[in-house]
Amino acid sequence: MSAQVIDGVRIAEEVRRELREQVGALRAKGIVPGLGVVLVGEDPASRSYVTAKEKACAELGIHSDDNRLPATTSKEELRRLIHKMNGDPRISGILVQLPLPRHLDESEILFDIDPAKDVDGFHPVSVGRMMLGQETFLPCTPHGVIVMLRRSGVKVSGAEVVVVGRSNIVGKPLANLLLQKSELGNATVTVCHTGTRDLAVHTRRADIVIAAAGRPRTITADMIRDGAVVIDVGVNRVPDASKKSGFRLVGDVDFDAVSQKASLITPVPGGVGPMTITMLLLNTVEAARRQAGRATA
Ligand code: NAP
Repeated sequence: MSAQVIDGVRIAEEVRRELREQVGALRAKGIVPGLGVVLVGEDPASRSYVTAKEKACAELGIHSDDNRLPATTSKEELRRLIHKMNGDPRISGILVQLPLPRHLDESEILFDIDPAKDVDGFHPVSVGRMMLGQETFLPCTPHGVIVMLRRSGVKVSGAEVVVVGRSNIVGKPLANLLLQKSELGNATVTVCHTGTRDLAVHTRRADIVIAAAGRPRTITADMIRDGAVVIDVGVNRVPDASKKSGFRLVGDVDFDAVSQKASLITPVPGGVGPMTITMLLLNTVEAARRQAGRATA
């Protein structure tokens, strides 16, 4: 069997089309969603992520407020900027691009963001509300995976799902969303990590395997059962002399072999990646809508 490939670019474009209409409707009422973007330092990967996010905002009619700061920026300067953005009505959502330079404590900085503007969903209040199943901003990559599954017609409710990885930004929130007694989840979830004794024992009995380990070939064909759905969150650079850059991107899944056994599979690139930025846009539009609702209530 050869798996059907889930086209993340197409699904992301579909969601963005819907968001473009919503932004148009908000603008017609005088509400312009705005994203405050903060990049500290010169990390090339972070710079390209931020540029991609700002470009995506512009395409939808979302205003972005670009703040590129030198790597030497002090904690006090950064906190002042965040507090200013918290109080700025033109900014609906705040994105602090991670990682921050070492001298800045990420959890302390993220804690400064007003949870009402926490469109990355990383603030402890947002995480707590998500755990409790309350309305909040969901973290972008986990939410993107769930939207992708839904829009591909995959039944999550009742499914055995194995999540490989337990990071605070992907594995843990994804597992949590999938187990919620809600329309997004209701799955039976197993979370695996480097302390897991035998990863294959778990992945082989899963209806849905989600790989977020950050290591190429973490999931090979012998580790999944026939007809499983395989979602590859991993993005890894491997050397490739045929590329001008000297590398190419691969996921955590041995795509060629696994796609001979799976029923549905996401590619890398072109799978989960495009969904992540799309969910940031979705959260920003939602933040603008909620703030406008509060202002008129
Ligand atoms: P991370 O913080 O490095 O976490 C990796 C997790 O995978 C850890 O929990 C680790 O276990 C586990 N792990 C590593 N190797 C394993 C193995 N062989 N077997 C079982 N578990 C293993 O990474 P992350 O931030 O969650 O990101 C994961 C991957 O997703 C990365 O490749 C990243 O680039 C990618 N990513 C993609 C997007 C996107 O938009 N497509 C967004 C975010 C991240 P321990 O906890 O025991 O160390």
